[in-house]
Amino acid sequence: MTITQPFDAVEAENDAATLEARAVSAWFGDHKVLDRVSLTMPAQSVTALIGPSGCGKSTFLRTLNRMHELIPGASLAGEVLLGEVDIYDSVWKLTEVRRHIGMVFQKPNPFPAMSIYDNVTAGLKLTGTKVRRDERDDLVQECLTRAGLWREVRDRLRQPGGALSGGQQQRLCIARSLAVRPTVLLMDEPCSALDPTSTRRIEETIADLTSEVTIVIVTHNMQQAQRVSDQCAFFLAEEGTPGAIVEHGDTSQVFDSPVDSRTADYVHGRF
Ligand code: ADP
Ligand code: MG
Repeated sequence: MTITQPFDAVEAENDAATLEARAVSAWFGDHKVLDRVSLTMPAQSVTALIGPSGCGKSTFLRTLNRMHELIPGASLAGEVLLGEVDIYDSVWKLTEVRRHIGMVFQKPNPFPAMSIYDNVTAGLKLTGTKVRRDERDDLVQECLTRAGLWREVRDRLRQPGGALSGGQQQRLCIARSLAVRPTVLLMDEPCSALDPTSTRRIEETIADLTSEVTIVIVTHNMQQAQRVSDQCAFFLAEEGTPGAIVEHGDTSQVFDSPVDSRTADYVHGRF
């Protein structure tokens, strides 16, 4: 048995694309910022993480693809399972984890001087994913199409990524993430820096991707959470306590009939 076998199983079995955090706690030095957060993010669904600034949403997202451990002084406890695979098992290389669990950030971060085409294929090199040279054109077209950008850039693939508008750059980053065929896509406020039209385009892209990719999105936009997500987790860090999930459930339940009064206050803008 090769050590890549469990991750191969993730690809083979769709149920295995469920991401599960078990009692995840996180620290920056002595400062505990997450306290035993458990959350199951089912395959082929969109999970929205909501809550006030500083409650640990971004930190939680970073624990889901092992970016947290790269921050100096940061530590964590708990488990993150992708299907049956513990992503923190020391046999997994970080590149292997990253290939399966992609991330899109608030500020679009394409390689600005690199062509649109090369931006899409850049993730292949970074994660050591092999694609035959003669299949690359098709892959680039497919990823740009899935990211909703192909028609706008098909005639300018050799232009630099930095020449695109902000919304186009964000869709380029999504295309770059998709090129390695991730199982999960983590999105940290992907529309916060974008205008309403670009935001709509990204939301359409998210809806289209749901059938193939498990999506976790942090958003401060309550309408967006309701439009794009199947389930929703409300994080809160009260008065010097670390961040934790106060309430979690189907998005309609969390918004229409929240169980916790703090959730009701937050989703109705009373925070
Ligand atoms: P959110 O995304 O919900 O706004 P964050 O996860 O960014 O929350 O932050 C959670 C807590 O962790 C905050 O108290 C923040 O100040 C702290 N924090 C975040 N990043 C770092 C870091 N790199 N070093 C030290 N503390 C950090
Ligand atoms: Mg954040």
